[in-house]
Amino acid sequence: DQFKLKSLKDIPAVTRDGKLVKLLANISGPDELEIVTANGGEGIGLLRTEMLFLGHDSFPTEEMQFEFYKKTALKLASRTLIIRTLDIGGDKQLPYLPLPAEENPFLGYRAIRICLDREDLFITQLKAILRASVYGNLKIMFPMISSLQELRQAKAMVEKAKHELAASNLTYNAGIEIGMMIEIPAAAVMADLFAREVDFFSIGTNDLCQYTVAADRMNQQVEKVYDPYNPGVLRLLRNTIEQANLHEIHVGMCGEMASDPMATLLLLGMGLREFSMSASAIPGIKHILINNSMAKAREITENVMKMDNSATIIRYLKEEGQ
Ligand code: PEP
Ligand code: MG
Repeated sequence: DQFKLKSLKDIPAVTRDGKLVKLLANISGPDELEIVTANGGEGIGLLRTEMLFLGHDSFPTEEMQFEFYKKTALKLASRTLIIRTLDIGGDKQLPYLPLPAEENPFLGYRAIRICLDREDLFITQLKAILRASVYGNLKIMFPMISSLQELRQAKAMVEKAKHELAASNLTYNAGIEIGMMIEIPAAAVMADLFAREVDFFSIGTNDLCQYTVAADRMNQQVEKVYDPYNPGVLRLLRNTIEQANLHEIHVGMCGEMASDPMATLLLLGMGLREFSMSASAIPGIKHILINNSMAKAREITENVMKMDNSATIIRYLKEEGQ
């Protein structure tokens, strides 16, 4: 079966009734790109930059980061490369960035919250990404955005980084697309407002689920509560996808749900056209897409959105089979 799935590598992910879906991969660095290509990944929907920072004893310099992003960009040529800015804190700590211990790290000082305070770190990363942007199809993505103010501040930093590069006669893609993760419930609820100010969304279901149902994604004791099929989570997903489509911006999903075969048709029926996941999951999801239709996906979504609890939803999705 693995063999059969691999043979799907070179065929596009098109439903039986002709809807084209983009299947991208999540990676932490350029070394993973061979596996992505081997599995038929069409590009990178999420480059987590944490590993780049964790792999050093001190902050990687602009030059080191530039080389890393450039190497990834060159390997991908014109294929999509979404680079997420540093998402440290929570479960991921940097040895050279001591932060006070927190009662609730996942609700604490992390990701964009740190970057907006530490302009030195943030501008360095943004300049490195911008400089690499002339070597491929790069996009910038901000994690953990909870308010319009944060987004605007982050975008202002990109402008500042551009000005600094221009002043040094360094080239960059002035039209680089800027997007944000939708992984905090406030952002999912305000998707209509955010859609006017970014080029794309990427839904991070790992955190979105954790914050929506208030259950730590790492704590096995609340594993049952941490449930992406909770109708409350599904409504946030639907709102995000609908608002993105209404405002004609791209919307993808890079959280674990994108690689869950049970969710594929449900998400497709909501209007999702871009799924990003670990490379090894791509053939299985493609298999589902090419053997089903939009008509069926829409019917599944319509039925699921009428159901009031996840046990019923999961039973139904399993019966529908893939
Ligand atoms: C997510 O939250 O769904 C996500 C993709 O980001 P991470 O898993 O890196 O927090
Ligand atoms: Mg996240």
